[in-house]
Formats: sequence, structure tokens, C-alpha cells
Amino acid sequence: MREKIIAANWKMNHLAEDLKKFFTELLAGYKAREEVSVVIAPASPYLARAAEMADGAERVFIAAQNMYCEKSGAFTGEISPSMVKDCGCRYVILGHSERRHIFGETDELIARKVKIALNYRLNPILCIGELLEEREDGKTEEVVSSQLNAVLPQLSPEEMLSVVVAYEPVWAIGTGRTATVEQAEEVHHLVRGIIGGAFGDEVAQRVTIQYGGSVKPENIDQLMAAPDIDGALVGGASLAAESFLRLINFKQ
Ligand code: PEP
Repeated sequence: MREKIIAANWKMNHLAEDLKKFFTELLAGYKAREEVSVVIAPASPYLARAAEMADGAERVFIAAQNMYCEKSGAFTGEISPSMVKDCGCRYVILGHSERRHIFGETDELIARKVKIALNYRLNPILCIGELLEEREDGKTEEVVSSQLNAVLPQLSPEEMLSVVVAYEPVWAIGTGRTATVEQAEEVHHLVRGIIGGAFGDEVAQRVTIQYGGSVKPENIDQLMAAPDIDGALVGGASLAAESFLRLINFKQ
């Protein structure tokens, strides 16, 4: 069975007190599930604190929301893969649509970040997804394929198995407008096909593909029932422990 991953992307939210409250409530209600991993991505100043809070909790891991693609040096304001690792992270979110569209990150830069993350034994959560106008113009397949094809040719099959792909239609992020299960499944199936084309079906069947975009307690069960949806990357509904716990406890 493929690993399912429910991930919280807190973006630029939550201070130390909020983090402590969240983890206290989360761990009070959390029961580890077989084949389900939980990933929490706080803002970078809180990574080490979050890793301490999660220490000892089965299948609970910390992710950075971003990092730079150099080992060290004169890159003011950036964090390196070794810093992410040193803070106790196992995952790093790369290519989130806010990084692509607000901060102008290109496919090329994201591919470099994925590669260096893997060199440091971090698991990248590679975000891809189309804008509303691209979907309306019938370009979803083209956009998603080119975002993936910027990265995939640089990976070995073993490296591909360490990557999580998050399909996040940009029009569904933070808008309350979720893709229908059919829309999401169609793209997830396509993504798995592209991975299969590059690495073979055996690898493709083992890669976790998350959906992101206004996932909430009301829609998690339907999404997780789709054959190619292996988890969720969640913004808004991950900020409170109660709703995040409901997401972790999706019905199978
Ligand atoms: C996200 O930030 O990746 C996201 C999907 O946000 P939201 O769940 O708020 O739409």
C-alpha cells in the first residue's frame, strides 16, 4: 500500500505560543495510523521547536516550507538544506504556488532545490498546479506536465521514490473552492502516468501524490477515497488542532 501523508502548511501563521497549544492539543488526540504519516510545516524560526514538540510521536514529522538550493554562503534571508536538516526536519515543501507566483520561483530553480534536498536526504514535497485561466483554457495537462518534466529527468528512480508530489490547483488554494474529486483524481491519474512514463509503473505506483486546495473536514473523506489521491497538503484547515486531527482521521 502507498504511504498516505496528511500535511499542514501553516504558511506565515502561528507564533511560539500557538505552536505549543497546537502540539499539546494534537498529541492529546492523536493516534498513529498504519501507513498514514503526519507532516507539519511551521514557519522557519519555529522548525526546531516544532521538532522538539513532535519528538517521540509516531509518524509525525516536520517540514520546512521552503529552502535555498546552495549549501551555505552569502544568501541573506535564506535557509540551507543542512539548516533544515539540523532543525530536525524530514520534509521540505518546494515549489508551492505562493513561491512560484508571489516570489517568482521558476521551474528551473525548483528543480535545483529538489535535487539538493535529496542530496541532504530530505524528502521534497514538490507542489505543482495550474492557474484558473490555464484550466479554463484547457491547459491543465500541459502546465502540470511541464512542471513535472522540469524535475523528473534529473532524478534517479530511487530519488523519485523519496519525492512526494502535491497537486494543488492554484484556483483552489485558500479560496474555499475545492476541486471536485473527479477533477482532482483526473490530474492525479495523469501525474502518476507521467511518473510511470519516466520511471516505470512500479515506481509510479509507490509515489505518494497529495491533493491541496481548500481541503477541510467536510471534504477529506471523499478526496481520500479516490484511487490516486494519497493525502492532503492543507493550509487553512491545518491551523487548529481539532480540524487537523479530523483530517488525519479521514475515513478509509
Ligand atoms: C496550501 O497552502 O497549500 C493550501 C492548499 O491552502 P488551503 O488549504 O488553505 O487552500
